[in-house]
Amino acid sequence: MSLAGKTAVVTGSTSGIGLAVARALAADGAKLMINGLVSRQEGDALASELAQEFGVQTRFSPADMSDPDQIQAMVEEAIRELGGVDVLVNNAGIQHTAATEDFPRAKWDAIIGINLSSAFHAIQAALPHMQKQGWGRIINTGSVHALVASVNKAAYVAAKHGIVGLTKVVALENADRGITCNAICPGWVLTPLIEQQIKDLGARENLSIDEAKVELVRHKQPSKTFVQPEQIGALASFLASDAASAMTGTALPVDGGWTAQ
Ligand code: NAD
Repeated sequence: MSLAGKTAVVTGSTSGIGLAVARALAADGAKLMINGLVSRQEGDALASELAQEFGVQTRFSPADMSDPDQIQAMVEEAIRELGGVDVLVNNAGIQHTAATEDFPRAKWDAIIGINLSSAFHAIQAALPHMQKQGWGRIINTGSVHALVASVNKAAYVAAKHGIVGLTKVVALENADRGITCNAICPGWVLTPLIEQQIKDLGARENLSIDEAKVELVRHKQPSKTFVQPEQIGALASFLASDAASAMTGTALPVDGGWTAQ
């Protein structure tokens, strides 16, 4: 229970990778602030389930990651109600695919806001607390698209490459203050975020949903299997541990070989 008594704030943790990371940190004993775009009722119910399963204090924040004021309020709530923000996981994200010349401006702004700027705002809100106590772990969910590009993902690739830059700057500024900042860069993980891409591929190539899933993964990921959300959770748990105190400013692929090509 390496995180007993500590508090983790995990953005976008009502589903997919964020939920798996929240579960892994709670299993390590961390109190949890979960967050996501679900109703207050659903969020509170999920927070109660996690509290029961792991025996830790939990809260749900409906803060919208496109709003800096709501992000700051969420971090302040964690400090006030859960005793701190020791581990911050910037994970909320959305996707939209289109050729650059057709990319809707509103989608560009939303993706940069939610996938990149929200991490800056949350880090800015949490850092003074971490600096005061001389201990902190910041984990940003990047992507293989933080390291390499794919067509039709201008905003997503730009935001995720930006996450790696932000990760390095925050790591350098805090390298001798007991605070680490790293990015985890997953390949394909089967979550609601990629459902639309599976449907689009199926329609384009006349494939069933199951066939489209296989085709999607086979195309980019040499392992030919999806990365499991729990595997991202396990890496987050390691990065939050004292064993990882010398790792900072890194971008770690968990991608079945995608970026080795
Ligand atoms: P998901 O759709 O299952 O989860 C996204 C989470 O973000 C949800 O909890 C959702 O409610 C929340 N969210 C979305 N917009 C929000 C907003 N405005 N305010 C607050 N919360 C918001 O998707 P996922 O695949 O688990 O994605 C999590 C992260 O992992 C994202 O940053 C994504 O880019 C990244 N990622 C995913 C994959 C993949 O293949 N699924 C690969 C690499 C990186």
